[in-house]
Amino acid sequence: MKSRYEAVIGLEVHAQMTTATKIFCGCSTAFGAPPNSHTCPVCLGLPGALPVLNRKVVEFAIRAGLASRCTIAPRSVFARKNYFYPDLPKGYQISQYELPICIGGHLEIETKEGARKTIGITRIHMEEDAGKLIHPGEGSGYSHVDLNRAGIPLLEIVSEPDMRSADEAVAYLRKLHQTVVYLGICDGNLEEGSFRCDANVSVRLQGAARFGTRAELKNINSFRFVKQAIEYEIERQIDLVECGGTVVQETRLFDSVSGVTRSMRSKEEAHDYRYFPDPDLVPVIVSAEWIDEVRTALPELPEAKIDRFTTALNLSRQDAELLAADRALADYFEACVAVHNNPKGCANWVMGEVLRGLNESGLSVAACPLTPENLGGMVARIDDGTISGKIAKTVFQEMWDSGKSADRIIEEKGLRQVTDSGAIEGIVDEIIAANAEQAAQYRAGKEKVFGFFVGQVMKASKGKANPQAVNDILRHKLAQG
Ligand SMILES: [Zn+2]
Repeated sequence: MKSRYEAVIGLEVHAQMTTATKIFCGCSTAFGAPPNSHTCPVCLGLPGALPVLNRKVVEFAIRAGLASRCTIAPRSVFARKNYFYPDLPKGYQISQYELPICIGGHLEIETKEGARKTIGITRIHMEEDAGKLIHPGEGSGYSHVDLNRAGIPLLEIVSEPDMRSADEAVAYLRKLHQTVVYLGICDGNLEEGSFRCDANVSVRLQGAARFGTRAELKNINSFRFVKQAIEYEIERQIDLVECGGTVVQETRLFDSVSGVTRSMRSKEEAHDYRYFPDPDLVPVIVSAEWIDEVRTALPELPEAKIDRFTTALNLSRQDAELLAADRALADYFEACVAVHNNPKGCANWVMGEVLRGLNESGLSVAACPLTPENLGGMVARIDDGTISGKIAKTVFQEMWDSGKSADRIIEEKGLRQVTDSGAIEGIVDEIIAANAEQAAQYRAGKEKVFGFFVGQVMKASKGKANPQAVNDILRHKLAQG
């Protein structure tokens, strides 16, 4: 970015809530059902059908508000947002406008430079999703309408225009994504559209008090595209202004193939929608008791988890942050520690071999073929000296492939570590006798040869000799000469 300019970015995120049923009717929210099978008079917008608010949606909105330090409105109101679109059968979307359920919160992000920065959250409101248009192909002359998605509950989370770069926008988006997934209110699946982002981008001269005219980038569905789209848009606007042009307020679409944003339509103003309170729905009243109840039941959030991992479990901050970044991974780690109380030992295997295995096989933590119970059982066998760390790698792979427990694999494959000093002494004697020349070199002060002997003894024991015992016995015997 040309340094005379600074970008101003605000994000509007739509998070689809993981309730079992829709926001104003009892239809299922399950993804991937045959078109229009999850519909009823309410979500089809049939005349006379009346919406009834799903209590769970309000609870989820309160969770999101509490986690982002918002004020929860004791009274909020649903409004009709009027516009025509073929996938919106009522001719209006039920949303919240003047009185949303959550206002004035914030989330903290870490900038690229490692500094902490607070991003304001203007509001969070509840609304229904629209249906989906399916276009069979160019020239077909018609489109299909699938209303399974109509009425699925959404939270719209609107940030303040506090971000100054594409990297900050992505950091905020990741933080928000992590938060809603931790809260168990959104599955965070970007490909299925459960978490989608609109970005408002403008540029202004450094130090200018007023914002420039903004363009809205619609429906970006990956973290990578958000970064690309915002970076492209910043450059485009600066070039435009530098050439004496003006940015127009409009909605633009990001084309992920060509990497550019294109004008879609001029941006509507709020008054174009003719918002008014929905007469079919009573105001949403949230008591202080209800808020307390939700707060008490709030799951542990990443910061609290990191604190607990560093204090109660004695992990380094770096390890704690890595494990807590993903709630499923943190749960896996804790299930492992529940079996064998060695947090550092379990953490090393989870962050090392488990993550490597998942990356290589492209699996999520939930689909990990190795159970945390089995992994904990294996770390226990390392700690009690049954197997060495080296043999553990073999056991790990076998557990991963077969699903068997460490104990069973150790027994079946005879991998028990040899700690019996008599057995090790026998091997050591043989190796020294077979390598008299090297033994003489060692005694003449060539310390490096010691490693050679350790390697030979371990090889002869098929890796099962206890390394500490091998060291001790070798030193002793070689010194005797
Ligand atoms: Zn319905």
